[in-house]
Amino acid sequence: MGEFELIHHYFQRPGANPPGVVLGVGDDCALLQPEPGQRLAVSTDMLVEGRHFFADVDPVALGHKALAVNLSDLAAMGARPLGCTLALALPRADEAWLAGFSRGLFALADAAACPLVGGDTTKGPLNLCITVFGQVPPGQELRRSGARASDEVWVSGQLGDARLALDALLGDIELAPEVLVRARQRLERPTPRLALGLALRGIASAAADVSDGLCGDLGHILTASGVGAELEIDALLASSAISADLRTLPRDHALRCALAGGDDYELIFTAPAGAHDAVLQAARSAATPVSCLGRITAEPGLRWRDACGQPLELAWASFDHFA
Ligand code: ADP
Ligand code: MG
Repeated sequence: MGEFELIHHYFQRPGANPPGVVLGVGDDCALLQPEPGQRLAVSTDMLVEGRHFFADVDPVALGHKALAVNLSDLAAMGARPLGCTLALALPRADEAWLAGFSRGLFALADAAACPLVGGDTTKGPLNLCITVFGQVPPGQELRRSGARASDEVWVSGQLGDARLALDALLGDIELAPEVLVRARQRLERPTPRLALGLALRGIASAAADVSDGLCGDLGHILTASGVGAELEIDALLASSAISADLRTLPRDHALRCALAGGDDYELIFTAPAGAHDAVLQAARSAATPVSCLGRITAEPGLRWRDACGQPLELAWASFDHFA
């Protein structure tokens, strides 16, 4: 199977272009048309074999995850997807692999209304790079720099289960088979929080997605905003942000997974305390659970306290490819 046959067969789909796509796969460029007055939001994420995924990972799950991690960035910006491109390096044209990968990718692309509009295909070590394009009305984007002292700090969904799965797959811990199935689902098939990102427009003061671990990604918000935060560890451990599976681990291991694990693709965000009910309403409308973890402070730095208000020292950094 040649390059163009491969593209045509696995990545070009017949049918009318969805709104926002004037021209899709097949020409020198795709043409996208944001709604009048909206800004283009653009983000790229690369997945490298051996670094971001195991060589033998299910290609359907990989297709899903490659797009999901990109859509998560649009969600964290409060942007609505317009389309995406896929740059793909493949060691060979393995048709079973390509069929699975494109199935996983298109299932999520359809669910998120984010059509594949172009890309590039080349021979080489397996490497996937997706770029997503979205739109957001000026001023309604959720930047990292908007957190202010006394804002509340929130997180969506649950943290740490992806890391739990990774620890098990690396052989560092043993999990009951049904626990591993659930945790692997979180590692391999993350859910981008697009509906929540849209619902938080005009409510959240700052947002980021949790790709490298809560401590690190909240740290980016704090740095960009020139503020600090005070969070309660026991409130976190008791909250719905920690799964029942994670709760069965020793406290220290559970905390490490939840705070520095990475690959969660939840949203960490801040909002004025007066918007507490509006956040809960937005979360309900997006059918996405959220938990309030603490407060933004004028004093810089991320500080954890126990239930008695005593400061706790948590020394783990978040994931850094070059650390
Ligand atoms: P060019 O030589 O102009 O870079 P290509 O021959 O690489 O164009 O690609 C032909 C068409 O197929 C282009 O519209 C390109 O966007 C699209 N394309 C190539 N690879 C992919 C892919 N993996 N997924 C989706 N579209 C692709
Ligand atoms: Mg090309």
